[in-house]
Amino acid sequence: MNIVENTSLKKFNTFGIDVNSRYFAEIVSEEELIDLLTSKNIKPLSKLILGGGSNILFTKDFNGIVISINIPGIKIKNESNEYVMIEAGAGVQWHQLVQYSVENNFGGIENLALIPGTVGAAPMQNIGAYGQEVKDSFHSLKGIFIDTCMEKTFYKDECEFGYRESIFKHELKEKFIITKVVLKLLKNPHVNISYNAVAKELETLKINNPGVKDVFNAVCNIRRSKLPDPSVLGNAGSFFKNPVVSNEEFLRLKNKFPEIVSFPAENEKVKLAAGWLIEKCGWKGKRMGNSGSHQKQSLVLVNYGGATGGEVLKLAGEIKKSVREMFGVNISEEVNIY
Ligand code: FAD
Ligand code: NAP
Repeated sequence: MNIVENTSLKKFNTFGIDVNSRYFAEIVSEEELIDLLTSKNIKPLSKLILGGGSNILFTKDFNGIVISINIPGIKIKNESNEYVMIEAGAGVQWHQLVQYSVENNFGGIENLALIPGTVGAAPMQNIGAYGQEVKDSFHSLKGIFIDTCMEKTFYKDECEFGYRESIFKHELKEKFIITKVVLKLLKNPHVNISYNAVAKELETLKINNPGVKDVFNAVCNIRRSKLPDPSVLGNAGSFFKNPVVSNEEFLRLKNKFPEIVSFPAENEKVKLAAGWLIEKCGWKGKRMGNSGSHQKQSLVLVNYGGATGGEVLKLAGEIKKSVREMFGVNISEEVNIY
């Protein structure tokens, strides 16, 4: 295993922020990971686990070791007439796993097409898009505790999945490294076209009775037309989470802002579209220094080139402040800040 000293992380994060890491190691197997974690020189160092760097904002140099997880492999573990259990290495590109599933007509993750990043990071924030979340198809995952090198399998009910949340993003953050993920996919899938944008795109494509592949294609078309490509314009997708408020709070807001965009959430709460709140505060397409809110999608903060993490964070702070002042609603970051 090759450990590199004093390396730039610019090409390892989709925001394109240029910070340095004191050490950097790429891991391709669980054995290599255990060797690294047990090595006497490495043990005392702070550790930062890295997948595709598509949900990260670096704000300073990292004075420890970045462990880049690149464990490969997709295989069928077992199957029945109804289900197939697929195990994938944490380093597999998420979209590659979606493509594999769609090619085999396995259903459950087709709406999650084109989400950047790795399989290992997907359970971290229970990735979601267009009415599907990874938790809906999740069976279990395997990983290693950083301090003890003990292995553990987490089953779905132990992962504390919520809206863009899990135990791995909170209690186990920087404590547990996910190495493998098992999904339970449907062999006779029903598609989910509950999001208007997907239904409309299928209409445009003149598809009446869509299958998994049709939904996958529709989602890919929408995303390509709407979202900034990080290789062209640095970003980490939605910078903020959609806030979920009580019904009472929602009625107060609806009274004041009748056109507010909202959707029912769990436990009789209401989800507000953070993008709409930000847009109403006048941030859509606005630039502050080298960063800004994207012109087509205000929830996505972008790096126009040369932005520092601090600059992006400052912009995020201003946006949060104006949403709080106008609506009395707190929005919080979805992106992991280091
Ligand atoms: P990284 O950014 O590398 O890491 C994210 C966090 O997970 C970090 O805290 C890291 O330490 C931790 N981590 C990474 N790998 C592991 C591991 N193996 N074990 C333990 N911890 C780990 N997200 C959505 O939910 N839905 C979307 O539709 C969506 N669209 C996006 C579109 C764009 C253009 C971009 C840039 C991002 C989008 N995202 C979306 C956010 C992002 O793609 C996902 O959160 C993705 O799962 C992050 O994967 P990653 O490998 O890049 O993780
Ligand atoms: P959109 O279609 O313009 O919708 C705006 C918001 O309304 C979304 O955030 C979505 O919530 C919500 N919404 C729309 N239709 C809904 C429905 N039928 N039921 C419940 N909620 C609904 O959103 P967009 O920004 O273009 O994104 C499209 C999808 O891709 C969304 O699911 C979004 O989460 C996902 N996406 C995520 C990221 C990221 O980095 N996290 C980046 C790009 C796109 P949800 O966000 O809860 O779905």
